[in-house]
Amino acid sequence: MRSDSLFKEALEVLPGGVSSPVRRFEPYPFFAKKGEGCMLYDIDGNRYIDYCLAYGPLILGHAPEKVISAVCEQIKKGSTYGTPTKAEVELAKLVIERVPAAEMIRFVNSGTEATMAAIRLARAFTGKDKIIKFEGAYHGAHDYVLVKPGSGATAAPDSPGIPTDTIKNTISAPFNNEEAVASIIEDDDNIAAIIVEPIMANIGCIEPEDGYLKFLRKITSENGILLIFDEVITGFRIAPGGAQEYYNIAADLVTYGKIIGGGFPMGALAGSREIMEHISPAGDVYQAGTFNGNPVSVTAGITTLKGLTEDIYKELNKKGEMIRNGMKDILEDNSLEFYIAGLSSMFQVYFTERRVKDYTSAKTADLEMFKRYFHGLLKGGVFVPPSQFECCFISAAHRKEDLDMTLEVMEESIKKAIK
Ligand SMILES: *Cc1c(COP(=O)(O)O)cnc(C)c1O
Repeated sequence: MRSDSLFKEALEVLPGGVSSPVRRFEPYPFFAKKGEGCMLYDIDGNRYIDYCLAYGPLILGHAPEKVISAVCEQIKKGSTYGTPTKAEVELAKLVIERVPAAEMIRFVNSGTEATMAAIRLARAFTGKDKIIKFEGAYHGAHDYVLVKPGSGATAAPDSPGIPTDTIKNTISAPFNNEEAVASIIEDDDNIAAIIVEPIMANIGCIEPEDGYLKFLRKITSENGILLIFDEVITGFRIAPGGAQEYYNIAADLVTYGKIIGGGFPMGALAGSREIMEHISPAGDVYQAGTFNGNPVSVTAGITTLKGLTEDIYKELNKKGEMIRNGMKDILEDNSLEFYIAGLSSMFQVYFTERRVKDYTSAKTADLEMFKRYFHGLLKGGVFVPPSQFECCFISAAHRKEDLDMTLEVMEESIKKAIK
């Protein structure tokens, strides 16, 4: 069966034909058959160099041998126990070694669960109700954070089905704007936490301006507000200690997902002992999950973190530079207005004349141009996320020849995309 007819069947049984909205693109998404290294294969016989990488988890590429063999060994011994395992303690230690501000960690099943628990914990710890989030930032699909989220074809609007009583506790602010946050805090003494993606990767890729995260650290400390870094994407990607290491800032709480599960479902929240010991059963802030600390995901996480050596980070940085510089050359040669964003193994292009620093500037991008660029890449055998408002990733499995080939396809697709 081919993707086009399978998609028709899928539309009958899955809302929109997919299990998560961003996966849908026109005229129909391809159905994956297998992944291997940096390559993704579909059921129609095509092969793609993959820069979507399942939206972030696959930093070692598809099916890395060490991870898969460790997972297979684990599965033979059982897939879940409902009791603690030694592996959880080991993974906790691996995270804590890398992240100085983290002294304790709770394993959950997704990034969504991690931010939900972190926000509850921050509210309990501070005795306050409200949170500040940033326009275009995505922290998962739960009620607290679906106010001006990014992630998805149109930077999804707030969803129906969320009680207004819930949403009035979530204040959204423009990113990279100190005055906006300062004035919210001045007017409201009921703010429990600021939750921030240190690099906004669900509205393309937007870096914090110099000093902005330090400003957030300072203003939260001074006002009894917790600073939550949502490192579901940046964690273990831009440095072993994530954005906290990269920008030299200690958050009060940090959330993980994606890479921490080594390609399997998992999330986590971490922080100081003082805060984390409020979580049940050490404390009274309730958090629980049948599959929390699942041994299969934990094993994949351990093997992945151990596989992320210093050399791998160096190479990932180099590969990122090669792609971003290559794209700049191509776009300049074609006299296009563009903004190339990214660092380390993250990148995105916006077809706009603006410098992209927040939600408003990101929204100036030419989405039709992006669509043509995306389809050109796909035709040429390069798969990037189908939305302008997602970030592209490079893995340890991408080789120089894959990147060279990618730049050739990019050049062709950009030439064709220009009207
Ligand atoms: C993906 C993502 C989430 C949600 O994680 P899920 O595992 O999809 O629930 C939360 N925050 C950020 C920054 C993300 O990129």
